[in-house]
Amino acid sequence: MENKEKHIFSVSQMRMYCRCPLQYYWRYCMGVKVPPSSSMLVGKSCHKAIEENNRQKITSRKDLVISDLIDHYCTEYNKTLGQEEVKFDDDPGKVKDSGIGLLIVYLQKIAPKVQPIAVEEHCCISFDSPVEYGFQGYLDLITEQNYIVDTKTAGKKYSDDAAQYDLQLTAYDVLYRTTRGKIPAGVQFHVLVKGSARKEPTVQILSGTTRTERQISRFLKTLALIAQSIKSGIFYPNDQSIVKPCSYCGYFDLCKKW
Ligand code: SF4
Repeated sequence: MENKEKHIFSVSQMRMYCRCPLQYYWRYCMGVKVPPSSSMLVGKSCHKAIEENNRQKITSRKDLVISDLIDHYCTEYNKTLGQEEVKFDDDPGKVKDSGIGLLIVYLQKIAPKVQPIAVEEHCCISFDSPVEYGFQGYLDLITEQNYIVDTKTAGKKYSDDAAQYDLQLTAYDVLYRTTRGKIPAGVQFHVLVKGSARKEPTVQILSGTTRTERQISRFLKTLALIAQSIKSGIFYPNDQSIVKPCSYCGYFDLCKKW
């Protein structure tokens, strides 16, 4: 049974603490949520549609047709809009269509290469030292070749070596090998890159090797230190200037008063 005091981390929490411990404090200790951007809305809705495709493909071994994929996308898009205030950074009609363009290119260029064996697999591991904590994640997709895949939407292309060093993929590698008792074949990003007035949307499949023992050890040491710091109430601003909060941050107004 879960100890009420035991904190269960996700990789996005870990990433936020690494970026700025004070930002973590506003979000997870004070519970202040920043409204999602329209890019996040599109990303989440594409993610849901692709998840539905992969889930049924485990047994059918066939992709959905594009109209079904778009239906899943629109259902998620409208559900999120009904539940949360979204900050639109472009015309709402164009924003919604940008996601449909991404799904079309996904279905043409990535989906035929993927045979899933697991989708959104929940993995959780526990630690007792230096404090009690847990670490959990949902693995987007595990392929027949035992690759762990994370699907992203992005405004521009990722660097060619992004999958080789990314923290999230390292976290998924750790969760996979700990809960499944074997090492994955590798890790991958499937990146859906948005188009513009002059450029068509495109995709990238970026592969990375499974992490080395040294990389896993470094990851686990970092995670333990973050857990210990949070338990000790260590939350400081990472704004580089110390005197002025960062204008791009959603917690800027709150942080000015800190
Ligand atoms: S404004 Fe800067 S220092 Fe303050 S929470 Fe945001 S990122 Fe951290």
